[in-house]
Amino acid sequence: MNLLVTGAAGFIGSSYVRGLLADGAADITVLDKLTYAGTLTNLPLGHPRLEFVQGDICDAALVDKLMSGADQVVHFAAESHVDRSIQGAAAFVRTNVLGTQTLLDAALRHRVGPFVHVSTDEVYGSTETGAWPEDRPLRPTSPYAASKASSDLIALSYHRTHGLDVRVTRCSNNYGPHQFPEKIVPLFVTNLLDGRKVPLYGDGRNVRDWLHVEDHCLGVDLVRTKGRPGEVYNLGGGTELSNRELTGLLLAACGAGWDRVEYVEDRKGHDLRYCVDWSKARTELGYRPRHDFTSGLAETVAWYRDHREWWEPLKRGAGLR
Ligand code: NAD
Repeated sequence: MNLLVTGAAGFIGSSYVRGLLADGAADITVLDKLTYAGTLTNLPLGHPRLEFVQGDICDAALVDKLMSGADQVVHFAAESHVDRSIQGAAAFVRTNVLGTQTLLDAALRHRVGPFVHVSTDEVYGSTETGAWPEDRPLRPTSPYAASKASSDLIALSYHRTHGLDVRVTRCSNNYGPHQFPEKIVPLFVTNLLDGRKVPLYGDGRNVRDWLHVEDHCLGVDLVRTKGRPGEVYNLGGGTELSNRELTGLLLAACGAGWDRVEYVEDRKGHDLRYCVDWSKARTELGYRPRHDFTSGLAETVAWYRDHREWWEPLKRGAGLR
């Protein structure tokens, strides 16, 4: 079985591939453009069941060639940082929308499936209370979330219109090793390890649900292997924290105090709270996060402490230090 995995030089896709190479029997082809967010240091290059192809998911000829040799697809590739989408949305629309459509067209031509489209809880928009089930109408706020909602709906349309075996996951915030150090957990940890301040948006009351990246990957693989065509599965972690609470935990883990926090102007259109109801994945697929948040976060902080050689060049390259 040949599995085409897009975007697997990034945070979540690389965790998924490392997990499958350790456990599974699939041959894996990774297609990744190696944008600022992708790095080959995330992948076990040279593994006999892994082929890496550098390329763009918008490149129809390349995508067609790779799809002709694939049996299934897991699609992670995306522009993924909300702040960057506020500064400029073009790359988000191009990669997240056009890139996904390019992959879907090729999958349709070669009848490749399941095609797992990795979406996000941000497509639902903000809610002060309760948890969203999968049939809640999408009301994305940021250009990132809107581009993900577009690709999510286009993916589902290929199932409804063409009968392609498309499955969609909508997951909450991931934490863990190998996350590009512009996102809150690795940015704060690496700043603190360097004795620097951390920038907290607004009053820090925005709430997110946190999930260990390996649990997200477990959920994605359950959807690939046990999910139903045309279905959406929410994947959550069950640990809701305000950004202020998360900051307090990261400060404590790094032995730093609140004097290291710099309050910065809030993100434009900052959604207050996301929360998904993931009972469908639990009852239908047996999905259950395995990582306890407290130990998962401690292990994550330790990983960044022990892997300066991984994040220092990335931060330097992105002008983050
Ligand atoms: P990431 O930014 O770490 O990695 C994205 C990868 O995609 C990079 O390796 C990059 O090089 C590649 N890529 C970007 N544009 C490309 C293109 N045009 N062609 C080929 N490759 C391209 O992102 P991540 O955090 O690993 O997120 C992976 C997926 O999961 C995304 O679709 C994201 O929307 C979704 N998601 C992320 C989270 C989270 O908390 N990080 C939560 C829910 C869903």
